Amino acid sequence: MYWRLLSLVLCQAGVAGIGWLIAPKGEEWQITLAMTLLGGYLWFVLDSLRGMRLLRWLRSGAADDLSLGNGLWGEAYDRIRRMLRDSSRLTVDSDSRLKDFLAALQASPNGVVLLDSDTRIEWFNQTAADHFGFDVRRDLLQHFGNLVRDPGFAAYLFAHNFLNDVTMPGRENSSSKPVTLSVQLHPYGDGRLLLLSRDITAVEQAEAMRRDFVANVSHEIRTPLTVLAGFVETLQTLSLDDQERHRYLGLMSQQATRMQTLVSDLLTLSRLEGSPLPSVHEWISVDLLMQQCEQDARELSHLLWTQSHDLRFERVAGWEIAGSALELHSAISNLIGNAIRYTPVQRRIDVGFKSLPDGGMVFYVKDQGPGIAQEHIPRLTERFYRVDRSRSRETGGTGLGLAIVKHVAQRHGTELTIDSFAGKGSTFSLTFPPHRVRSVAEMSNIHG
Ligand code: ADP
Repeated sequence: MYWRLLSLVLCQAGVAGIGWLIAPKGEEWQITLAMTLLGGYLWFVLDSLRGMRLLRWLRSGAADDLSLGNGLWGEAYDRIRRMLRDSSRLTVDSDSRLKDFLAALQASPNGVVLLDSDTRIEWFNQTAADHFGFDVRRDLLQHFGNLVRDPGFAAYLFAHNFLNDVTMPGRENSSSKPVTLSVQLHPYGDGRLLLLSRDITAVEQAEAMRRDFVANVSHEIRTPLTVLAGFVETLQTLSLDDQERHRYLGLMSQQATRMQTLVSDLLTLSRLEGSPLPSVHEWISVDLLMQQCEQDARELSHLLWTQSHDLRFERVAGWEIAGSALELHSAISNLIGNAIRYTPVQRRIDVGFKSLPDGGMVFYVKDQGPGIAQEHIPRLTERFYRVDRSRSRETGGTGLGLAIVKHVAQRHGTELTIDSFAGKGSTFSLTFPPHRVRSVAEMSNIHG
Protein backbone atom coordinates (compact mmCIF):
# COMPACT_ATOMS: atom_id res chain seq x y z
CA MET A 1 0.00 0.00 0.00
CA TYR A 2 2.88 2.35 0.86
CA TRP A 3 4.50 1.52 -2.45
CA ARG A 4 1.24 2.36 -4.22
CA LEU A 5 0.94 5.77 -2.52
CA LEU A 6 4.64 6.42 -3.08
CA SER A 7 4.37 5.56 -6.79
CA LEU A 8 1.34 7.88 -7.14
CA VAL A 9 3.15 10.73 -5.36
CA LEU A 10 6.35 10.16 -7.38
CA CYS A 11 4.44 10.04 -10.68
CA GLN A 12 2.56 13.23 -9.86
CA ALA A 13 5.73 14.94 -8.59
CA GLY A 14 7.69 13.90 -11.72
CA VAL A 15 5.03 15.17 -14.13
CA ALA A 16 4.51 18.33 -11.99
CA GLY A 17 8.33 18.90 -12.06
CA ILE A 18 8.32 18.70 -15.87
CA GLY A 19 5.35 21.18 -15.90
CA TRP A 20 7.30 23.59 -13.66
CA LEU A 21 10.28 23.41 -16.02
CA ILE A 22 8.38 23.88 -19.27
CA ALA A 23 5.80 26.41 -17.93
CA PRO A 24 6.09 30.04 -19.31
CA LYS A 25 6.97 32.62 -16.71
CA GLY A 26 4.18 33.67 -14.45
CA GLU A 27 2.08 30.53 -15.14
CA GLU A 28 4.25 28.07 -13.22
CA TRP A 29 1.72 27.38 -10.47
CA GLN A 30 -1.27 26.81 -12.76
CA ILE A 31 0.73 24.55 -15.11
CA THR A 32 2.29 22.63 -12.21
CA LEU A 33 -1.14 22.05 -10.68
CA ALA A 34 -2.56 20.86 -14.01
CA MET A 35 0.46 18.61 -14.52
CA THR A 36 -0.01 17.17 -11.02
CA LEU A 37 -3.54 16.19 -12.00
CA LEU A 38 -2.23 14.79 -15.29
CA GLY A 39 0.40 12.80 -13.32
CA GLY A 40 -2.36 11.31 -11.19
CA TYR A 41 -4.35 10.40 -14.32
CA LEU A 42 -1.28 8.89 -15.98
CA TRP A 43 -0.58 6.83 -12.82
CA PHE A 44 -4.22 5.66 -12.82
CA VAL A 45 -4.01 4.56 -16.48
CA LEU A 46 -0.71 2.68 -15.95
CA ASP A 47 -2.07 1.07 -12.80
CA SER A 48 -5.28 0.01 -14.57
CA LEU A 49 -3.18 -1.50 -17.39
CA ARG A 50 -1.34 -3.65 -14.85
CA GLY A 51 -4.68 -4.69 -13.31
CA MET A 52 -5.98 -5.57 -16.78
CA ARG A 53 -2.89 -7.69 -17.48
CA LEU A 54 -3.58 -9.65 -14.29
CA LEU A 55 -7.24 -10.10 -15.28
CA ARG A 56 -6.25 -11.27 -18.79
CA TRP A 57 -3.76 -13.74 -17.26
CA LEU A 58 -6.50 -15.14 -15.01
CA ARG A 59 -8.96 -15.39 -17.93
CA SER A 60 -6.41 -17.25 -20.07
CA GLY A 61 -6.18 -19.98 -17.40
CA ALA A 62 -3.21 -18.59 -15.44
CA ALA A 63 -0.86 -20.90 -17.26
CA ASP A 64 2.14 -18.65 -18.15
CA ASP A 65 4.28 -16.61 -15.82
CA LEU A 66 3.64 -12.87 -15.60
CA SER A 67 5.90 -10.07 -14.45
CA LEU A 68 3.94 -7.39 -12.61
CA GLY A 69 6.76 -6.18 -10.38
CA ASN A 70 6.03 -4.92 -6.86
CA GLY A 71 3.01 -3.19 -5.52
CA LEU A 72 -0.59 -4.19 -5.17
CA TRP A 73 -0.96 -5.97 -8.53
CA GLY A 74 2.37 -7.74 -8.15
CA GLU A 75 1.46 -9.02 -4.72
CA ALA A 76 -2.06 -9.97 -5.84
CA TYR A 77 -0.49 -11.89 -8.75
CA ASP A 78 1.96 -13.67 -6.42
CA ARG A 79 -0.74 -14.63 -3.97
CA ILE A 80 -3.17 -15.83 -6.63
CA ARG A 81 -0.41 -17.85 -8.26
CA ARG A 82 0.54 -19.46 -4.93
CA MET A 83 -3.12 -20.26 -4.17
CA LEU A 84 -3.61 -21.79 -7.59
CA ARG A 85 -0.43 -23.86 -7.21
CA ASP A 86 -1.57 -25.09 -3.77
CA SER A 87 -5.03 -25.95 -4.95
CA SER A 88 -3.72 -27.78 -8.04
CA ARG A 89 -1.33 -29.73 -5.80
CA LEU A 90 -4.30 -30.58 -3.56
CA THR A 91 -6.32 -31.70 -6.59
CA VAL A 92 -3.45 -33.89 -7.81
CA ASP A 93 -3.07 -35.33 -4.29
CA SER A 94 -6.75 -36.16 -3.86
CA ASP A 95 -6.86 -37.45 -7.44
CA SER A 96 -4.04 -39.88 -6.75
CA ARG A 97 -5.60 -40.84 -3.41
CA LEU A 98 -8.90 -41.57 -5.18
CA LYS A 99 -7.02 -43.61 -7.78
CA ASP A 100 -5.25 -45.59 -5.01
CA PHE A 101 -8.55 -46.12 -3.26
CA LEU A 102 -10.25 -47.36 -6.43
CA ALA A 103 -7.24 -49.56 -7.21
CA ALA A 104 -7.59 -51.12 -3.74
CA LEU A 105 -11.29 -51.76 -4.36
CA GLN A 106 -10.39 -53.12 -7.78
CA ALA A 107 -7.91 -55.54 -6.17
CA SER A 108 -10.52 -56.77 -3.71
CA PRO A 109 -11.35 -60.47 -4.15
CA ASN A 110 -14.97 -59.49 -3.52
CA GLY A 111 -17.22 -57.77 -6.00
CA VAL A 112 -17.75 -54.10 -5.03
CA VAL A 113 -20.57 -51.95 -6.44
CA LEU A 114 -21.27 -48.35 -5.34
CA LEU A 115 -24.95 -47.45 -5.65
CA ASP A 116 -26.46 -43.97 -5.32
CA SER A 117 -29.53 -43.27 -3.18
CA ASP A 118 -31.69 -44.40 -6.11
CA THR A 119 -29.77 -47.73 -6.40
CA ARG A 120 -28.17 -46.59 -9.67
CA ILE A 121 -24.71 -47.99 -10.30
CA GLU A 122 -22.01 -45.36 -9.79
CA TRP A 123 -18.95 -47.61 -9.90
CA PHE A 124 -18.07 -51.30 -9.80
CA ASN A 125 -14.89 -53.36 -9.83
CA GLN A 126 -13.91 -56.12 -12.25
CA THR A 127 -14.94 -58.91 -9.83
CA ALA A 128 -18.45 -57.44 -9.64
CA ALA A 129 -18.46 -57.16 -13.46
CA ASP A 130 -17.63 -60.90 -13.62
CA HIS A 131 -20.20 -61.79 -10.96
CA PHE A 132 -23.09 -59.88 -12.54
CA GLY A 133 -21.95 -59.55 -16.16
CA PHE A 134 -21.72 -55.72 -16.06
CA ASP A 135 -20.14 -53.59 -18.76
CA VAL A 136 -18.63 -50.20 -17.81
CA ARG A 137 -19.80 -48.42 -20.97
CA ARG A 138 -23.28 -49.88 -20.93
CA ASP A 139 -24.29 -50.26 -17.31
CA LEU A 140 -23.05 -47.23 -15.34
CA LEU A 141 -25.95 -45.22 -13.89
CA GLN A 142 -28.38 -48.05 -14.60
CA HIS A 143 -30.64 -49.28 -11.80
CA PHE A 144 -29.01 -52.33 -10.19
CA GLY A 145 -32.41 -54.06 -9.89
CA ASN A 146 -33.01 -53.66 -13.65
CA LEU A 147 -29.77 -55.45 -14.47
CA VAL A 148 -29.85 -58.13 -11.77
CA ARG A 149 -33.33 -59.55 -11.80
CA ASP A 150 -33.33 -61.92 -8.89
CA PRO A 151 -36.54 -62.21 -6.80
CA GLY A 152 -34.57 -62.98 -3.62
CA PHE A 153 -32.44 -59.85 -4.07
CA ALA A 154 -35.49 -57.72 -4.95
CA ALA A 155 -37.20 -58.82 -1.71
CA TYR A 156 -33.98 -58.14 0.24
CA LEU A 157 -33.72 -54.63 -1.22
CA PHE A 158 -37.38 -53.95 -0.60
CA ALA A 159 -37.23 -55.11 3.04
CA HIS A 160 -34.35 -52.68 3.61
CA ASN A 161 -32.89 -54.94 6.29
CA PHE A 162 -29.25 -55.36 5.36
CA LEU A 163 -27.96 -57.04 8.53
CA ASN A 164 -27.46 -60.34 6.70
CA ASP A 165 -26.48 -61.31 3.18
CA VAL A 166 -28.66 -62.83 0.50
CA THR A 167 -27.61 -65.63 -1.86
CA MET A 168 -28.36 -65.66 -5.56
CA PRO A 169 -27.14 -67.47 -8.67
CA GLY A 170 -24.19 -65.85 -10.43
CA ARG A 171 -24.25 -64.81 -14.10
CA GLU A 172 -22.43 -67.97 -15.20
CA ASN A 173 -24.71 -70.25 -13.21
CA SER A 174 -25.87 -73.37 -15.05
CA SER A 175 -27.21 -76.73 -13.97
CA SER A 176 -23.93 -78.44 -14.90
CA LYS A 177 -21.77 -75.75 -13.27
CA PRO A 178 -23.61 -73.98 -10.45
CA VAL A 179 -22.32 -70.58 -9.32
CA THR A 180 -23.68 -69.11 -6.09
CA LEU A 181 -23.07 -65.56 -4.92
CA SER A 182 -23.48 -64.08 -1.47
CA VAL A 183 -24.54 -60.42 -1.74
CA GLN A 184 -24.78 -57.90 1.08
CA LEU A 185 -25.66 -54.21 1.06
CA HIS A 186 -24.05 -51.74 3.46
CA PRO A 187 -25.65 -48.27 3.70
CA TYR A 188 -23.23 -45.33 3.80
CA GLY A 189 -23.13 -41.57 3.22
CA ASP A 190 -26.29 -39.81 2.12
CA GLY A 191 -28.54 -42.81 1.42
CA ARG A 192 -25.90 -44.50 -0.74
CA LEU A 193 -25.28 -48.26 -0.70
CA LEU A 194 -22.11 -50.29 -0.88
CA LEU A 195 -22.80 -53.72 -2.39
CA LEU A 196 -20.34 -56.54 -1.70
CA SER A 197 -20.60 -59.82 -3.59
CA ARG A 198 -18.68 -63.03 -2.87
CA ASP A 199 -18.49 -66.26 -4.87
CA ILE A 200 -19.50 -68.93 -2.34
CA THR A 201 -19.83 -71.82 -4.81
CA ALA A 202 -16.93 -73.73 -3.22
CA VAL A 203 -18.28 -73.12 0.30
CA GLU A 204 -21.73 -74.30 -0.75
CA GLN A 205 -20.27 -77.37 -2.41
CA ALA A 206 -18.19 -78.16 0.68
CA GLU A 207 -21.29 -77.74 2.82
CA ALA A 208 -23.30 -80.04 0.51
CA MET A 209 -20.46 -82.59 0.63
CA ARG A 210 -20.40 -82.38 4.42
CA ARG A 211 -24.18 -82.94 4.55
CA ASP A 212 -23.92 -85.89 2.14
CA PHE A 213 -21.05 -87.30 4.16
CA VAL A 214 -22.96 -87.12 7.45
CA ALA A 215 -26.02 -88.69 5.77
CA ASN A 216 -23.86 -91.47 4.28
CA VAL A 217 -22.08 -92.21 7.55
CA SER A 218 -25.40 -92.32 9.42
CA HIS A 219 -26.82 -94.63 6.78
CA GLU A 220 -23.76 -96.92 6.82
CA ILE A 221 -23.88 -97.18 10.62
CA ARG A 222 -27.64 -97.50 10.85
CA THR A 223 -27.77 -100.63 8.66
CA PRO A 224 -25.56 -102.88 10.82
CA LEU A 225 -27.03 -101.31 13.98
CA THR A 226 -30.58 -102.22 12.88
CA VAL A 227 -29.46 -105.77 12.13
CA LEU A 228 -27.69 -105.99 15.51
CA ALA A 229 -30.71 -104.62 17.37
CA GLY A 230 -32.89 -107.19 15.57
CA PHE A 231 -30.64 -110.06 16.68
CA VAL A 232 -30.51 -108.76 20.26
CA GLU A 233 -34.31 -108.65 20.33
CA THR A 234 -34.52 -112.17 18.91
CA LEU A 235 -32.09 -113.44 21.54
CA GLN A 236 -34.09 -111.70 24.25
CA THR A 237 -37.52 -112.87 23.17
CA LEU A 238 -37.00 -116.32 21.69
CA SER A 239 -35.62 -119.32 23.51
CA LEU A 240 -33.07 -120.63 21.04
CA ASP A 241 -31.00 -123.77 21.18
CA ASP A 242 -27.24 -123.54 21.50
CA GLN A 243 -26.56 -124.01 17.81
CA GLU A 244 -28.97 -121.25 16.79
CA ARG A 245 -27.70 -118.90 19.46
CA HIS A 246 -24.19 -119.54 18.29
CA ARG A 247 -25.20 -118.72 14.70
CA TYR A 248 -26.92 -115.49 15.77
CA LEU A 249 -23.93 -114.42 17.84
CA GLY A 250 -21.69 -115.05 14.83
CA LEU A 251 -23.88 -112.82 12.64
CA MET A 252 -23.92 -110.16 15.35
CA SER A 253 -20.17 -110.27 15.55
CA GLN A 254 -20.01 -109.78 11.75
CA GLN A 255 -22.13 -106.61 12.00
CA ALA A 256 -20.04 -105.30 14.91
CA THR A 257 -16.87 -105.91 12.89
CA ARG A 258 -18.43 -104.04 9.97
CA MET A 259 -19.08 -101.04 12.18
CA GLN A 260 -15.58 -101.25 13.64
CA THR A 261 -14.04 -101.27 10.15
CA LEU A 262 -16.16 -98.30 9.13
CA VAL A 263 -15.21 -96.29 12.22
CA SER A 264 -11.57 -97.22 11.75
CA ASP A 265 -11.64 -96.06 8.08
CA LEU A 266 -13.37 -92.83 9.10
CA LEU A 267 -10.69 -92.20 11.72
CA THR A 268 -7.96 -92.91 9.15
CA LEU A 269 -9.52 -90.37 6.77
CA SER A 270 -9.88 -87.71 9.45
CA ARG A 271 -6.26 -88.31 10.56
CA LEU A 272 -5.11 -87.93 6.96
CA GLU A 273 -6.99 -84.66 6.63
CA GLY A 274 -5.81 -83.21 9.90
CA SER A 275 -2.18 -84.25 10.21
CA PRO A 276 0.89 -82.48 8.76
CA LEU A 277 2.27 -83.70 5.42
CA PRO A 278 4.49 -86.80 5.64
CA SER A 279 8.21 -86.16 5.81
CA VAL A 280 10.43 -86.47 2.74
CA HIS A 281 13.30 -87.54 5.01
CA GLU A 282 11.71 -90.69 6.44
CA TRP A 283 12.78 -93.59 4.19
CA ILE A 284 10.95 -96.91 4.04
CA SER A 285 12.33 -100.12 2.58
CA VAL A 286 10.19 -101.13 -0.41
CA ASP A 287 11.03 -104.79 0.19
CA LEU A 288 9.96 -104.68 3.84
CA LEU A 289 6.73 -102.91 2.90
CA MET A 290 5.97 -105.58 0.29
CA GLN A 291 6.81 -108.36 2.74
CA GLN A 292 4.23 -107.03 5.25
CA CYS A 293 1.63 -106.48 2.55
CA GLU A 294 2.13 -109.97 1.11
CA GLN A 295 1.56 -111.53 4.52
CA ASP A 296 -1.61 -109.43 5.08
CA ALA A 297 -2.85 -110.29 1.58
CA ARG A 298 -2.46 -114.03 2.02
CA GLU A 299 -4.25 -113.88 5.37
CA LEU A 300 -7.10 -111.83 3.90
CA SER A 301 -7.45 -114.15 0.92
CA HIS A 302 -7.74 -117.14 3.27
CA LEU A 303 -10.09 -115.32 5.60
CA LEU A 304 -12.51 -114.26 2.87
CA TRP A 305 -12.51 -117.25 0.57
CA THR A 306 -12.30 -120.97 1.14
CA GLN A 307 -9.94 -121.25 -1.80
CA SER A 308 -7.13 -118.84 -2.36
CA HIS A 309 -6.06 -116.56 -5.24
CA ASP A 310 -3.05 -116.96 -7.44
CA LEU A 311 -1.18 -114.18 -5.64
CA ARG A 312 2.14 -113.17 -7.26
CA PHE A 313 4.31 -110.68 -5.48
CA GLU A 314 7.30 -109.44 -7.43
CA ARG A 315 9.86 -108.35 -4.85
CA VAL A 316 12.59 -105.82 -5.58
CA ALA A 317 15.41 -105.42 -3.11
CA GLY A 318 17.52 -102.36 -2.47
CA TRP A 319 15.00 -99.54 -2.92
CA GLU A 320 13.54 -97.04 -0.50
CA ILE A 321 10.71 -94.55 -0.77
CA ALA A 322 10.20 -91.42 1.30
CA GLY A 323 6.99 -90.95 3.27
CA SER A 324 4.92 -92.22 6.13
CA ALA A 325 5.22 -96.01 6.56
CA LEU A 326 1.80 -96.19 8.21
CA GLU A 327 0.03 -94.24 5.44
CA LEU A 328 1.75 -96.06 2.57
CA HIS A 329 1.04 -99.42 4.16
CA SER A 330 -2.62 -98.43 4.53
CA ALA A 331 -2.92 -97.27 0.87
CA ILE A 332 -1.13 -100.30 -0.58
CA SER A 333 -3.10 -102.75 1.61
CA ASN A 334 -6.34 -101.12 0.51
CA LEU A 335 -5.46 -101.61 -3.18
CA ILE A 336 -4.36 -105.22 -2.64
CA GLY A 337 -7.41 -105.84 -0.42
CA ASN A 338 -9.75 -104.59 -3.17
CA ALA A 339 -8.12 -106.89 -5.73
CA ILE A 340 -8.59 -109.86 -3.38
CA ARG A 341 -12.17 -108.88 -2.52
CA TYR A 342 -13.34 -108.31 -6.08
CA THR A 343 -11.38 -111.01 -7.94
CA PRO A 344 -12.88 -114.50 -8.07
CA VAL A 345 -10.77 -117.14 -6.29
CA GLN A 346 -7.92 -118.91 -8.08
CA ARG A 347 -7.57 -116.03 -10.53
CA ARG A 348 -4.24 -114.30 -10.73
CA ILE A 349 -3.31 -111.07 -8.91
CA ASP A 350 0.07 -109.44 -9.63
CA VAL A 351 1.54 -107.02 -7.12
CA GLY A 352 4.88 -105.25 -7.21
CA PHE A 353 7.11 -102.19 -7.49
CA LYS A 354 8.84 -101.27 -10.76
CA SER A 355 11.58 -98.69 -11.36
CA LEU A 356 10.82 -96.02 -13.93
CA PRO A 357 13.29 -94.54 -16.47
CA ASP A 358 13.00 -91.08 -14.85
CA GLY A 359 14.22 -92.48 -11.48
CA GLY A 360 10.74 -92.77 -9.94
CA MET A 361 8.94 -95.99 -9.04
CA VAL A 362 5.51 -97.37 -9.66
CA PHE A 363 3.54 -99.65 -7.38
CA TYR A 364 0.93 -101.76 -9.19
CA VAL A 365 -1.85 -104.24 -8.39
CA LYS A 366 -3.15 -106.04 -11.47
CA ASP A 367 -6.12 -108.34 -11.06
CA GLN A 368 -8.28 -110.53 -13.25
CA GLY A 369 -11.45 -109.43 -11.53
CA PRO A 370 -14.69 -108.08 -13.00
CA GLY A 371 -13.12 -104.79 -14.09
CA ILE A 372 -14.87 -101.42 -13.86
CA ALA A 373 -16.91 -99.66 -16.56
CA GLN A 374 -15.35 -96.36 -17.72
CA GLU A 375 -18.15 -94.13 -16.45
CA HIS A 376 -17.48 -95.20 -12.84
CA ILE A 377 -13.72 -94.65 -12.87
CA PRO A 378 -13.63 -90.85 -12.22
CA ARG A 379 -15.95 -91.29 -9.22
CA LEU A 380 -14.27 -94.30 -7.57
CA THR A 381 -12.27 -92.20 -5.11
CA GLU A 382 -15.38 -90.39 -3.82
CA ARG A 383 -16.33 -91.39 -0.31
CA PHE A 384 -18.91 -94.20 -0.25
CA TYR A 385 -19.00 -94.51 -4.04
CA ARG A 386 -19.39 -98.16 -4.98
CA VAL A 387 -19.92 -99.82 -8.33
CA ASP A 388 -21.29 -103.00 -6.86
CA ARG A 389 -22.84 -102.15 -3.50
CA SER A 390 -23.78 -105.67 -2.42
CA ARG A 391 -20.41 -107.14 -3.40
CA SER A 392 -18.66 -104.40 -1.44
CA ARG A 393 -20.76 -105.10 1.66
CA GLU A 394 -20.47 -108.90 1.38
CA THR A 395 -16.71 -108.66 1.48
CA GLY A 396 -16.59 -106.12 4.32
CA GLY A 397 -16.06 -103.01 2.19
CA THR A 398 -16.75 -99.58 3.64
CA GLY A 399 -16.70 -97.57 0.41
CA LEU A 400 -13.84 -95.51 1.86
CA GLY A 401 -10.83 -97.54 0.72
CA LEU A 402 -10.05 -95.65 -2.48
CA ALA A 403 -10.78 -92.30 -0.80
CA ILE A 404 -8.04 -93.19 1.71
CA VAL A 405 -5.70 -94.25 -1.13
CA LYS A 406 -6.32 -90.95 -2.96
CA HIS A 407 -5.56 -88.92 0.17
CA VAL A 408 -2.36 -90.82 0.90
CA ALA A 409 -1.30 -90.45 -2.76
CA GLN A 410 -1.90 -86.70 -2.71
CA ARG A 411 0.00 -86.29 0.54
CA HIS A 412 2.98 -88.10 -1.00
CA GLY A 413 2.95 -86.18 -4.30
CA THR A 414 2.03 -89.49 -5.87
CA GLU A 415 -0.38 -90.19 -8.71
CA LEU A 416 -3.10 -92.83 -8.48
CA THR A 417 -3.94 -94.33 -11.88
CA ILE A 418 -6.81 -96.69 -12.55
CA ASP A 419 -6.80 -98.75 -15.77
CA SER A 420 -9.82 -100.93 -16.01
CA PHE A 421 -12.40 -102.24 -18.46
CA ALA A 422 -15.57 -104.06 -17.53
CA GLY A 423 -14.93 -107.81 -17.76
CA LYS A 424 -11.19 -107.39 -18.31
CA GLY A 425 -9.71 -106.89 -14.85
CA SER A 426 -8.17 -103.77 -13.33
CA THR A 427 -4.74 -102.28 -12.67
CA PHE A 428 -4.36 -99.73 -9.89
CA SER A 429 -0.99 -97.97 -9.73
CA LEU A 430 0.74 -95.38 -7.58
CA THR A 431 3.55 -93.49 -9.32
CA PHE A 432 6.22 -92.12 -6.96
CA PRO A 433 8.25 -89.16 -8.26
CA PRO A 434 12.09 -89.51 -8.43
CA HIS A 435 12.70 -87.28 -5.39
CA ARG A 436 10.79 -89.76 -3.22
CA VAL A 437 12.80 -92.77 -4.43
CA ARG A 438 16.39 -93.80 -3.71
CA SER A 439 18.43 -96.94 -4.08
CA VAL A 440 20.14 -98.32 -0.99
CA ALA A 441 23.32 -99.03 -2.99
CA GLU A 442 23.48 -95.40 -4.06
CA MET A 443 23.18 -94.29 -0.44
CA SER A 444 25.87 -96.65 0.83
CA ASN A 445 28.21 -95.32 -1.94
CA ILE A 446 27.59 -91.76 -0.80
CA HIS A 447 28.17 -92.59 2.87
CA GLY A 448 30.92 -95.12 2.18
P1 ADP B 1 -15.11 -100.62 -1.05
O1 ADP B 1 -14.89 -100.67 0.41
O2 ADP B 1 -16.55 -100.65 -1.43
O3 ADP B 1 -14.28 -101.60 -1.78
P2 ADP B 1 -13.40 -98.65 -2.26
O4 ADP B 1 -13.35 -97.20 -2.08
O5 ADP B 1 -12.17 -99.44 -1.90
O6 ADP B 1 -14.67 -99.15 -1.47
O7 ADP B 1 -13.72 -98.97 -3.76
C1 ADP B 1 -14.80 -98.28 -4.38
C2 ADP B 1 -15.47 -99.16 -5.41
O8 ADP B 1 -14.58 -99.39 -6.50
C3 ADP B 1 -15.80 -100.52 -4.88
O9 ADP B 1 -17.05 -100.53 -4.25
C4 ADP B 1 -15.80 -101.35 -6.14
O10 ADP B 1 -17.07 -101.26 -6.77
C5 ADP B 1 -14.78 -100.68 -7.04
N1 ADP B 1 -13.48 -101.38 -7.02
C6 ADP B 1 -12.40 -101.08 -6.28
N2 ADP B 1 -11.38 -101.90 -6.54
C7 ADP B 1 -11.82 -102.77 -7.47
C8 ADP B 1 -11.23 -103.87 -8.17
N3 ADP B 1 -9.97 -104.24 -7.96
N4 ADP B 1 -12.01 -104.50 -9.08
C9 ADP B 1 -13.25 -104.12 -9.32
N5 ADP B 1 -13.87 -103.10 -8.69
C10 ADP B 1 -13.18 -102.43 -7.79
